[in-house]
Amino acid sequence: MKNIADKGSEIIVTTNTSEIKTKKLISCAGLYSDKITKMTNEKNDVVIIPFRGEYYKIKDEKNIW
Ligand SMILES: Cc1cc2nc3c(=O)[nH]c(=O)nc-3n(C[C@H](O)[C@H](O)[C@H](O)COP(=O)(O)OP(=O)(O)OC[C@H]3O[C@@H](n4cnc5c(N)ncnc54)[C@H](O)[C@@H]3O)c2cc1C
Repeated sequence: MKNIADKGSEIIVTTNTSEIKTKKLISCAGLYSDKITKMTNEKNDVVIIPFRGEYYKIKDEKNIW
């Protein structure tokens, strides 16, 4: 998906190979959702900041839960 043009009565989605006209558009772009949102007229300041998670396990004797 390269561009999204909301023309009111229809949405035009431009890809590398074609142009798709539709009335509704659901985006499931995962970590690229913010970039897809920027292709639309929607005002949204949300930015996805991916990072690797680190998880630690508390020693059993220190675990109060
Ligand atoms: C290395 C790694 C390991 C992981 N391991 C696990 C695990 O073990 N268990 C677990 O539960 N979760 C895991 N996750 C997290 C999991 O992958 C995500 O939470 C899940 O895939 C999110 O699903 P999604 O459908 O929202 O997005 P995604 O699966 O990311 O799908 C988004 C899709 O949009 C497409 N896309 C993006 N931009 C465009 C564009 N401009 N045009 C066309 N297509 C586009 C992408 O190509 C992709 O196919 C892992 C993630 C990573 C990176």
